[in-house]
Amino acid sequence: MDLARVSRHAEAEWWVEPHGAMRVPAVVYASEPLMREMDEKVYEQACNVASLPGIVKAAYAMPDAHWGYGFPIGGVAAFDEEEGVISAGGVGFDISCGVRLLETPLTREQLEPFKQALADALYHEVPVGMGRTGRVHLDDAELDAMLAGGARWAVEQGYGAWEDLPRIEEGGCMAGARPESVSRRARSRQADEMGTLGSGNHYLEVQHVARVEDARLAEAYGLREGQVVVSIHCGSRGLGHQIGTEYLREMSLEAARHGLTLPDRELACAPIRSDVGREYLGAMRAAINCALANREIITHLVRRAFERVTGVSGLRLLFDVSHNTCKVEEHEVDGKRRRLFVHRKGATRAFGPGHPDLPPGLREVGQPVLIGGSMGTASYVLAGTEESEARAFSSSAHGAGRSHSRHDALRLWRGREVVDSLASRGILIRSPSMRGVAEEAPGAYKNVVEVVDAAEVAGLSHKVARLEPLACIKG
Ligand code: 5GP
Ligand code: MN
Ligand code: MN
Repeated sequence: MDLARVSRHAEAEWWVEPHGAMRVPAVVYASEPLMREMDEKVYEQACNVASLPGIVKAAYAMPDAHWGYGFPIGGVAAFDEEEGVISAGGVGFDISCGVRLLETPLTREQLEPFKQALADALYHEVPVGMGRTGRVHLDDAELDAMLAGGARWAVEQGYGAWEDLPRIEEGGCMAGARPESVSRRARSRQADEMGTLGSGNHYLEVQHVARVEDARLAEAYGLREGQVVVSIHCGSRGLGHQIGTEYLREMSLEAARHGLTLPDRELACAPIRSDVGREYLGAMRAAINCALANREIITHLVRRAFERVTGVSGLRLLFDVSHNTCKVEEHEVDGKRRRLFVHRKGATRAFGPGHPDLPPGLREVGQPVLIGGSMGTASYVLAGTEESEARAFSSSAHGAGRSHSRHDALRLWRGREVVDSLASRGILIRSPSMRGVAEEAPGAYKNVVEVVDAAEVAGLSHKVARLEPLACIKG
């Protein structure tokens, strides 16, 4: 990004003052090196978002931001209920894509003799890859129940555990879902896809805690150096994508009907108070439940494989957080509490200590923020901070973020070579697609350490633990 076009407000905070159609500033949180490397498109897209009706305070970009459809990935924008809009592109196509982290009682040394067998068992147990179907088939009535019930539904069906629910955003069940706003086509795409990981960027990774960065918070989260943990990253599969695609179309028609002039047609949106806006909200919430149920079913499969291979049961869920959502939240704006529609696309909610929506055990210390790096580098657990609310409506980064497009990655790396070089470092990769592995090569992502350091310096979240991969099941 051209630094001449932004003004530096703090060490890791850069502003674009409103100009042209912008109603509010665009604010990017990043270190100077990350800013220099950042996609110029992020500047353009953040400015476009800042021009949407009813946007409150600013359009934000997180340190991992990169180009996305309409809104940047790593974008946060909150809208006023009366005058604001809701945008399918501001949520993302993989609605409620997110990460959860399971804690095991094993150390890295204790796992070592089982590592190969565990990687094979996880790969066997959890369906991965494009179009792979799962073992759960849902008829229409069951789909309705799943879309309304989320992870709670999954637990009722015998997947996962009741103790997991408080450790999932919304207690595992997003209120206000409208299964009736989910089309036949979206339903049929999902009927056989529950409990599947999906392709590409999605992963199931066995990791160890390589370093505790904050002893007090790590203890509160139950994390110790050397401990083995499992991260699951996936979303709402075909259902979410179908809803995103259909409502994008509806929204461009609706925007035209309301006379909204959009700086980019990819920013298609509808007034929150319109029929299309309300319907999308209901369908999106149903897709959130789909993602929560999906991750709960996968957790069940992971626990089963883990127990079969190592004899260890009772993997505990630290937290499950989505990074593609629009949520109604109260935030302080100019000294007043306001109800806002907060879009986070490739951005993680990061509630600070004391937030009433956090369960006991986490409320005292702040919400875990789960950040992926890549299959060959580190990932991080951070914690929401008090100041994060004032920075970006309690939001933080969601990953390292891409530095190379998939297309470029395919030119630069060979899947087989990536797998071999990781194997030589003791990291096992299991994937149906060597092309996918090349697209996801560790070098295709930004340096995750720079990203989390910038998130920390900017006050978005606070480092708790560094994780490193042992085995990664890639879609
Ligand atoms: P997204 O949700 O945008 O697809 O991906 C979130 C983040 O996950 C990416 O920005 C990237 O840093 C990280 N990531 C992608 N693949 C892997 C992986 O295989 N393992 C880990 N630990 N992180 C990954
Ligand atoms: Mn994701
Ligand atoms: Mn996703």
